[in-house]
Order: sequence, then C-alpha cells, then structure tokens
Amino acid sequence: MGRLMPQLEFRWVSWLRVRAAPPPLQEYTEHEDGALTAWCVETSKLLNLTELSRRVRVSWNSRMRTTAGRAWWPDRMIELNPKLKTLPPEELWRTLKHELAHLVAYERAGRHHTGPHGPEWQAACAELGIPDEQPYHTLPFKSRKMKRNYSYVCPHCLATMRRVKPIRRMVACYACCRKYNNGTYHSRFRLIEQKH
Ligand SMILES: [Zn+2]
Ligand SMILES: [Zn+2]
Repeated sequence: MGRLMPQLEFRWVSWLRVRAAPPPLQEYTEHEDGALTAWCVETSKLLNLTELSRRVRVSWNSRMRTTAGRAWWPDRMIELNPKLKTLPPEELWRTLKHELAHLVAYERAGRHHTGPHGPEWQAACAELGIPDEQPYHTLPFKSRKMKRNYSYVCPHCLATMRRVKPIRRMVACYACCRKYNNGTYHSRFRLIEQKH
C-alpha cells in the first residue's frame, strides 16, 4: 500500500453522528449539481421511492475537508467534497452511490433502520452497483499509488523496466530470453536493480 498524503486523505464519516444541521437551503441550491441530482432522481424512481425522487438534491461543499460525502435526513440532501473532482471519476460515483444508499435505506426502513451502515444500507449499496462498499476507508490517490519506485536494467540490451514493488525472485529480460534462449530464463539476462 502506497503512502497517502495527509491532506488527500478522505474518511467516511457516519452521517448519523453529524449533529449539526444541514447547510441553509439557499447556500445549498447555489452549489447544486444538476446532473448528479438528476441521476439520483432517476435512480430513486427506478427503486419506486417517490418521495426521495421528488426531494433528493446533490451539491458540492467546499468547506468539507476530510469527509468525501455526507447525506442528510430527512432533508434528503447529499453533499460532496469538491476534491472528488480531482480523483478518477469512479471515486465520485462510488461516493455518490454510498451516500444515496443511506437515503434509500432510510426511505425504506425509517426509524426501524438498524444503523448507518447496517443491512439496509448494504442492500441498497448492492442495488446501486457497489456491493463491496465499506463504511470507512480512504480514497486512493492514483498518481501516488501507481508511482513506480524501482527500476531494473537488462545487462544485455540495456532495456529498463519500472516496478511499483521490488522484484524478489530472479527475473530476466523477457525480450532477450526469447531472442537468445528460446524464451526460458538465463542468468546472462538477469535484471539488475538501478539505484537512484
Ligand atoms: Zn456512510
Ligand atoms: Zn534484454
């Protein structure tokens, strides 16, 4: 697991534990995302949740720091952290679905709800296409995660290869082994780690 910069760390916060009131409606509608709201409206209709489809709204809240998303009940509002725009789009969709799943769970179970990330929420996540969603986790930062830290060179053709993780086993240059040794390993082409 790569290191994450602290300021890029996101954590899910149970929205039930958020005691403060949702943002004022005026401020909220100013930053509303029409396309994401429309998606939630349509999805709620497909799930036959009429009241939710009428009232659900999605907006961006630039004051959110460590939280990726939040859902408000009974306001049926979803707030998203604008930092999500800098991440791969699947992170935004996963966050949106995670939060909508909270509203779906409450719309269905009401006060019989068994907890913010209980079975109702998990079932809603599965219906929304994120069956393995976790209540709390950090968002991956692709550029850092995919950073290739180790480089190796073939002593024969001098081709260099980069890897995220160090190579533990003996690995030889595939091109040279194929060209000169019928595709089988030969120590003559064994990759050498380059120190930098
Ligand atoms: Zn949650
Ligand atoms: Zn080679």
